[in-house]
Amino acid sequence: MKIDIHTHVMLEKKHMSPAVRASTDSLWGEGSMDCPCEWHWEKTARETDRTVVFGSRFQAAGMMVDDEYVANYVAQHPETLIGFMSIDPTLDGANEIERKCHDLNLKGIKTSPFYCNCALDDPRFEIIFSTAERLGLPIMLHQGPAFPQTCFTKYADPKPLEEIALRHPKLNIIIAHMGYPWEYEILHIVRRYPNLFVDISAMIQQPWDFYNKLIMYHEWHCLDHVLLGSDFPFGTWKETYNGLMNVNYMAEGTHLPQIPEKDLLRIAERDTIDLLGIDT
Ligand SMILES: [Zn+2]
Repeated sequence: MKIDIHTHVMLEKKHMSPAVRASTDSLWGEGSMDCPCEWHWEKTARETDRTVVFGSRFQAAGMMVDDEYVANYVAQHPETLIGFMSIDPTLDGANEIERKCHDLNLKGIKTSPFYCNCALDDPRFEIIFSTAERLGLPIMLHQGPAFPQTCFTKYADPKPLEEIALRHPKLNIIIAHMGYPWEYEILHIVRRYPNLFVDISAMIQQPWDFYNKLIMYHEWHCLDHVLLGSDFPFGTWKETYNGLMNVNYMAEGTHLPQIPEKDLLRIAERDTIDLLGIDT
């Protein structure tokens, strides 16, 4: 199946603070984060069977995409799009999750210890995990550092994930970007818990790094925990699919190991919606 588990919609000028826009402009160029719904549909979502889409509403990061914007877009293409809500544990609790689940028909949660300056073992996060498990909502975690200068890596330590996975066995958690920059540590956490996954979003842009990470998952027999996500607008589903299927070109003509094509295909065409138990 053609499934993308990680895409964004956002209007830069409306949803991002001037400070955070200045930092993304300097890293990737002006307008790099602008991804209106129509463009999202035309460039990537319409090519897929299912695309998960979210905004980002994280106060410390200066990103305030309202979930009504996401829900209205999803309602235009309900056969393809699946909306996730943004939850900031410093602002939101169980009531807000229930409201967005029932009133906006959102099917999962995007959150982040880094973007929210809130550690995973903070009691406010525990409310999010237990509510998500009770409602059957998967959680996508943006774990590691990104552009905002006002968010701090000290909050993003992944070690609490072990106890969270054990305490909430019915809660499926996807760690974005293969757990960057704690890839090795996160691999050795993820491989022990059937309810933990990583996605490959925004990895094809660093082909050598991506190749090494996938080899690591291959050698540790953990590829069944790897999901396809593009991180649109940083890549489309198609570009991500092709980048994944071509990852072995790094090793061609060398003695370096390669990932069997059948294993790559399993990641590329996995029915992630069924795997995560998302109620469509
Ligand atoms: Zn993302």
